Amino acid sequence: MLTSIKDKSVIVTGGSKGIGKGIARVFAAQGARVTIASRGEEALRAACDELGAAGGQVSWKTCDVGDWDSVRGMVEAVAADNGGVDILCANAGAFPQTKIVDMDPAEWDQVMGTNLRSSFLCVKACIPHFEKAGKGRVVLTSSITGPVTGFPGWAHYGASKSGQLGFLKTAAMELSKYNTTINAVMPGNIYTEGLQDLGQDYLDTMAASIPLKRLGQVEDIGNAALFFASDEAGYITGQTIIVDGGQILPESLEAIDEI
Ligand code: NAP
Repeated sequence: MLTSIKDKSVIVTGGSKGIGKGIARVFAAQGARVTIASRGEEALRAACDELGAAGGQVSWKTCDVGDWDSVRGMVEAVAADNGGVDILCANAGAFPQTKIVDMDPAEWDQVMGTNLRSSFLCVKACIPHFEKAGKGRVVLTSSITGPVTGFPGWAHYGASKSGQLGFLKTAAMELSKYNTTINAVMPGNIYTEGLQDLGQDYLDTMAASIPLKRLGQVEDIGNAALFFASDEAGYITGQTIIVDGGQILPESLEAIDEI
């Protein structure tokens, strides 16, 4: 049992769907005051209703995580509503699948903005609130794709997810000044709306290539984020945890059949 995070003010970007909604559900179940932030108002309202019906203290703010004014405005509004910001889960991301030969440079920039620049912007906006509180927690959602593995069509995505881990190392040093830790969860294939868009064939092939023989659930990532946000993880910073059902372990396709 981890020390309570009841009533902590938590921001989850990309919390209207998928992994972000799972993170929000896990924190709300612990009694935290969770704000989910993304662009689409309809999805935010629906997620808020769903999580609130389960008893969580969940509210929403619209935000484009690649835009500084939008991020700063969202963080300031959350701080005003909830008396500060204790925990940031910088999770929003996008993964359009396009091979390099076909990729428009604008798509590269878009993915970098949503996945990497956003980590910097969200952390930067929260620093004054961590400083004021005398402590804070940041959990980034990275990926195995990029830092550990490759997949055709995701050169920009993989670069952005590796970039988050480069950012993490120096951010951990700088945030220590504010008694704040920053760590990253690296999911494998997690069953989300975004992943469903890749098609049933992709989902089936992926499940078959994972030693635990299933895609991950969004709460699997939420539970790892909860640990990093807990008091018990207070001496861990600049680190990562892979949550992938063993997906990166097989040396070959045959290795899976040997199980
Ligand atoms: P998802 O189901 O597509 O949900 C993405 C969320 O991010 C939505 O709430 C979306 O809302 C929000 N978002 C996208 N662009 C945004 C922007 N510019 N500003 C604000 N919010 C934005 O994706 P997911 O599968 O849950 O992925 C979430 C995170 O986990 C991503 O960082 C992804 O790279 C990472 N990840 C996922 C998997 C997986 O298997 N699913 C594996 C490894 C890592 P709006 O579109 O309305 O803004």
